[in-house]
Amino acid sequence: MGSPQAKRAPLRRWCLILLATCLPLVSADGVGILGAGKWLYKPPCAHTCRYMVRNNPLLCQTDDGSSTHQSHHTSSAKDPLCWLIDDAFLRTVALCINKYCSRDDVSLSTIEKWWEGHLATGSIGDWSKDMEPAMSYQKALELAQDDVKKVGEDNVPYITGKAPLNVTSRIAEKEYIATLNYQVSFQWGEFDHGVNSLIISITLVCLPILLSLGRFIPGYAKLTSRISAILDKPLWGHQHRVPVYGNLGHMPTRGQSIFIAYIIIINVILLCLPLRTLQPNVRMVSHHMQRVQVIGDRAGVLAFCLYIALFLFSSRNNILLWVTDWSHSTYLLLHRWVAYVCIFQTVMHSILLLHYFVGWQDHATESKLPYWYWGIIATLATCFMYPLSLLSLRQKMYEVFLAIHQILAALILIAGFLHIWYLYSYNWGYEIWIYAAGGIWFMDKALRVVRIAANGFRTATVTSVDESSDLLRIEIDDVVVEGHVYLYFPSLSWRVWENHPFSVLSSFTELNPQESGTNRDTELDSEKGNRNAVTAVDVGGETPSEENQTTSSVPHGAQAKAVLLVRAQNGTTATLLSRVRAQKGTLSIRVLIESSYHATPSTQNLRECSSFVGIAGGVGITAVLSIASKFGGIPARVFWGVKHDDILRSIKPELEQYKSKVELHTTIGTRMHLDEIIKAEILREDVRGNLGVVVCGPPGMADEVRKVVTELASSGKSNRGVVFIDEAFSW
Ligand SMILES: Cc1cc2nc3c(=O)[nH]c(=O)nc-3n(C[C@H](O)[C@H](O)[C@H](O)COP(=O)(O)OP(=O)(O)OC[C@H]3O[C@@H](n4cnc5c(N)ncnc54)[C@H](O)[C@@H]3O)c2cc1C
Repeated sequence: MGSPQAKRAPLRRWCLILLATCLPLVSADGVGILGAGKWLYKPPCAHTCRYMVRNNPLLCQTDDGSSTHQSHHTSSAKDPLCWLIDDAFLRTVALCINKYCSRDDVSLSTIEKWWEGHLATGSIGDWSKDMEPAMSYQKALELAQDDVKKVGEDNVPYITGKAPLNVTSRIAEKEYIATLNYQVSFQWGEFDHGVNSLIISITLVCLPILLSLGRFIPGYAKLTSRISAILDKPLWGHQHRVPVYGNLGHMPTRGQSIFIAYIIIINVILLCLPLRTLQPNVRMVSHHMQRVQVIGDRAGVLAFCLYIALFLFSSRNNILLWVTDWSHSTYLLLHRWVAYVCIFQTVMHSILLLHYFVGWQDHATESKLPYWYWGIIATLATCFMYPLSLLSLRQKMYEVFLAIHQILAALILIAGFLHIWYLYSYNWGYEIWIYAAGGIWFMDKALRVVRIAANGFRTATVTSVDESSDLLRIEIDDVVVEGHVYLYFPSLSWRVWENHPFSVLSSFTELNPQESGTNRDTELDSEKGNRNAVTAVDVGGETPSEENQTTSSVPHGAQAKAVLLVRAQNGTTATLLSRVRAQKGTLSIRVLIESSYHATPSTQNLRECSSFVGIAGGVGITAVLSIASKFGGIPARVFWGVKHDDILRSIKPELEQYKSKVELHTTIGTRMHLDEIIKAEILREDVRGNLGVVVCGPPGMADEVRKVVTELASSGKSNRGVVFIDEAFSW
C-alpha cells in the first residue's frame, strides 16, 4: 500500500512553510495539521497491533484497562506506565508487529522508533525518558519467539475481546485486517481533510493575487478593456449597487460570480472527494457508514479552513487590498459568499455526525460530553449569523448588526476551539485554523489602534452651511490623510468604539493660491444661478506624470488640514448634526482618526489613462474629486449632480482648490443625462489613450453608469481602453 502522505509531500511542504509563517506550531507525531506534516498512524501495522490489545487488562494494571472515552484521536490510558513494563503486552505487540509489518516492508528503524515513543501513548508519540519501554523491540520479540518455541506454535493463545492479557499471545489475521482497514481508511480520510482544507484556504487567498497580476503588464488596460467591461456587468439584470430581490442582497458582477462559483464548486468537490473506504472494517461496518463519517468529519474541517478567508476578506487591513486591485466592497461581497458556504459546511458536519452517532454509535453518551455541546453552540452561532447579517438589518441598524456580528464571531471561534480541545486537546492541529483566524482578527484590530494612535486625539471643527442643510463640513487641522478615513467621536455617545467611514475631500488648504498655481479668477457659476455650469477648466498634458500626482505630503505653500463632507443620516451623523445645530452651526469636538484607507486599489490603474471622467452624486463628489486630483495632470472632467446648492457652498474652498486640475460640470436639481455624457467621452475620436471612468453616488446612479460604460466598452465601438471604477459609499 503506497502512502498517500509520500505522494503529496511537496504540496504539504509548501503549505507548511506558508502556515508556519503565521501559525503556532503543534508537535506530536509531526508538526502542523493532519495531511500536512502530521500523521496519525506511522506505521499503521504497529499502531494496529497495539490498538488491538489496548483494552485487554494487564497484570500490572490497577483498573480494568479500558478508558472512559476513546475516540479515534485520543489514546488515553488510565495507567500508561503499565504498558511500558508489562511482559505479556510487550511480547504480544512485538510478535504481532513482526508478523504483520513485514508485509508492508516497514524498516526495522521505523519500528524501533515507533516502539520507543508509542507503547504507552497510542497514536501520539512521546519519546521522553519517562516513556521509555522496559525493553527494546528486538528484545521483546526475542523473548516472545522463545515463548512460542516453548509452548509450540499451535498452543499460543489468541487475543479475545477484553480478556486479561497475561501470556504472550497472537492476534488473529481476520481481526487484524479489519482493524488495520479501520486505521488506514481513517488516516486516509484525515489526510484528505487536511490537504483539501489547505487547497481551499490557500487558493481562496492566493487566487486574487494571481488574477490581479495582469495589471503589471504594460498596455494591460487597453488589452483587457473589453473583457473587463464584460466582467464588470452584473451577473443578471442591471443592478449591482441597488439591492435585488426585495432587498435580499447585491447582485455580484460576472467577474465576482466566477470567483463565487469557484468558492462553491471547490467546496462541494473537496467535501465529497476523495472518498476512500475500506472493508471489512472493525468500526465502520459498511461503506455507507464510512462515507457518512468521512464527509461529516470533512465538512467540519472545511468549515474551519474557511475562517481564514472569512476573517481576511472582511478586515479593513486586509493585506489583499495592498497586493491585488480588488476593492474592499468586492472582498466584503466574497466574505458573505464564503460565509454562506461555511454555514453549509457547518450544518453538513452537524447533521451527518448526528446521523452517524444516532445510527451507529452511542449517541446518548456522546451527546453529554463537553465537546458535543460546544459543537452545538458553534453550529448555532454560525447559523444565526445569516439572519442577523441580512442587508435590511445592516441598512437599518448598522451598529446593532456590527455588535452582534463581532460577538457571534468571537463565540464561533471560542466554541470551535473548545469543541476541538475537549475532543483532541492540542494533538491534531485542527485548532491551528482557529489560531490563524483569531490572529488575522487580532492583527486587524491592532493595526486599527496603531493607525488611530499615529494621529492621536484631535479636535475637529464641524460646521453646517445653514440651518436647513443636513450637510456637515468637518475640518481637522494638521492631519494629512487620503482615500477614506474612519472617524470616532468618543464624546458623542457611550458607544465610544463606534466609527464611520468618510472620504477625504482634501488634505490641505492652500495658503496662497498664487504660489500654488491656482490663479484663475473663476467663480462658482452655480452661485450665479447657472443650472448646468462649467466651474473651472484646466487641460493638462496627455499622460499623467509622477510629479503631478498628489501624495500624502503637503504641497509647498499649503497647510495640512483634513476636510470631510458628511451628509447626516439617522445614527451618529444625525446626533452630530443636532449638536452642531445646538451650537449655532459650529461645533468643536474631539475625534480619533483611523487613517488612511483605500477601498478601491484599482484606482491605481488610472495611471494608464490619458483622460478621466468622473460622475458624482451629492457627497460622492468627495471621492471623485480626490481621485481626479490624485491623477492630476491628465484632462479630468467631473459631472456632478446635486439636489440643492448647499453642498456647493459647503465645499466652496475645495472647489476653488481643485479648479486648476478638474473641469467641473454641476447640475442642480435635475437628473444628469449620464448616457450622453459617457457616450460622448468614450466615443471621442480626438483623444488617444485609455479613459478612466469613476462613479461615486447613489446606488441607482452607480448602476446606470456601470450599464452605459460596460455596454459601450464591451461593444467594441470605442477605440479607447476603459478603466472603470465604482467607488461605493455603502457595503
Ligand atoms: C468608503 C466609504 C466612504 C464614505 N464616504 C462618505 C462621505 O465622504 N460622506 C458621507 O456623507 N458619507 C460617506 N460614506 C457613508 C457614511 O459612512 C455613512 O453615511 C455613515 O456611516 C452613516 O452613519 P450613521 O450612523 O448616521 O448611519 P445610519 O443612519 O445608522 O445608517 C445609514 C446608512 O449608513 C450605513 N452605515 C452606517 N454605519 C456605517 C459604517 N460604520 N460603515 C459603513 N456603512 C455604515 C448603514 O448601513 C446605512 O445604510 C462613506 C461610506 C463608505 C463605505
